[in-house]
Amino acid sequence: MYDYTIVGGGILGLASAYRLLQERPGASLVVLEKEPGLARHQTGHNSGVIHAGVYYQPGSLKARLCKEGAERTIRFCEDRGIPYERCGKLIVATDADEVERLKGLEERVIANGLDYERISADRMKEIEPNVAGMAALLVHATGIVDYSQICEKFAEDVRSAGGEIRTGQTVTGIVERDSEITVETTSDTFTARTLVVCAGLQGDRLAMMSGIDIDFRVLPFRGEYYEVNRQRANLVKRLIYPVPDPSLPFLGVHLTRHIDGSLSVGPNAVLSFGRETYSGNYPVPQDMADMMRFPGFYKLMARFAAAGLYELRGSISKSVYLERCRKYCPALTLNDLEPKEPGIRAQTVSADGNLVDDFLFLETARSLHVCNAPSPAATSALPIADEIVSRALRKAN
Ligand SMILES: Cc1cc2nc3c(=O)[nH]c(=O)nc-3n(C[C@H](O)[C@H](O)[C@H](O)COP(=O)(O)OP(=O)(O)OC[C@H]3O[C@@H](n4cnc5c(N)ncnc54)[C@H](O)[C@@H]3O)c2cc1C
Repeated sequence: MYDYTIVGGGILGLASAYRLLQERPGASLVVLEKEPGLARHQTGHNSGVIHAGVYYQPGSLKARLCKEGAERTIRFCEDRGIPYERCGKLIVATDADEVERLKGLEERVIANGLDYERISADRMKEIEPNVAGMAALLVHATGIVDYSQICEKFAEDVRSAGGEIRTGQTVTGIVERDSEITVETTSDTFTARTLVVCAGLQGDRLAMMSGIDIDFRVLPFRGEYYEVNRQRANLVKRLIYPVPDPSLPFLGVHLTRHIDGSLSVGPNAVLSFGRETYSGNYPVPQDMADMMRFPGFYKLMARFAAAGLYELRGSISKSVYLERCRKYCPALTLNDLEPKEPGIRAQTVSADGNLVDDFLFLETARSLHVCNAPSPAATSALPIADEIVSRALRKAN
């Protein structure tokens, strides 16, 4: 019998395993991952941004965890020789309305205690000659990294602390008893005192497997990107973002530099007809059926119909997508954009059709399920793992 079983070889499962073995050296622990390798879903398909925490409500858990997470991510990268860069993020206002909204954003940046600079149109020409706008904010702390590389280092530490990582293990059943909890996979059975589940896009299904009565579902939203062809990847030096719509701050395609030297445009957010369909948006019967049976799906679609259609137009038409980026980067052309694999976000939606914004943890006597971990959960992985570990340790006796 193990002390701990952790389901999920994404950044949260691995960070939790890493932190648990630091807190309880010598504990027996196994991480179960269904894919043949680690970080194959959200963690390996994200933008690779170390967020500074610009948009979050000052004083909120998200704001605090993001700031702390960014600092700890960078320290971890420095200690472990993982490449990262604090390239900064330029939020560009292109019309009078956006200039007004930028002022509100500046107040938030100040309230969140972030180091920033106000950038005039002239200064913008000097620092980013290919970006056009009326005004901008430059947030210095935002950076870039490859989260898969961080996961590899977490995994290395877990193994050297005696933990096991078993890939190709799809969890199909969970049976909880007074003194133990058993996880069945397609090929094995694992019994532990405590179970932690960080299953991302499958989080609702695993919670139901544990017998938890949930009133939400995970709906998958594709984040589609284009890669800017390599010869033009030095078009910008920083991350370039539009001023967000305050009601949907996660929308708005941006230009993202990556630590491998590439540059991407995106992501958007369109409904995915499958939870793990990276090669195309084709319907997966089980995923579609779960979505159609969930009343929150229809309420969400009705509430966000206009935003959904806007995103869909950009998804269908490359030139519509391009025009949205050309607003602040007119140098981009259709020929610059090459297809890139999308990411699929696990968006937890409540039965009344609301997007669940906060991190959501559900528990049984012997299990803890992370049921919502939206962006910036990769940035905040270490402090989120601390929260998971402290909850898991309370169970572990
Ligand atoms: C397009 C996109 C862009 C993003 N950009 C950023 C960004 O720039 N910065 C940032 O901080 N955050 C970003 N995020 C958010 C961030 O990537 C996620 O919040 C984070 O990766 C969640 O990690 P996770 O471990 O919970 O989930 P995942 O990485 O999805 O891992 C879950 C794991 O559980 C496994 N699993 C599921 N079911 C089972 C089962 N039955 N048995 C065994 N294993 C199972 C899966 O195979 C998977 O490996 C982005 C997300 C997306 C999709």
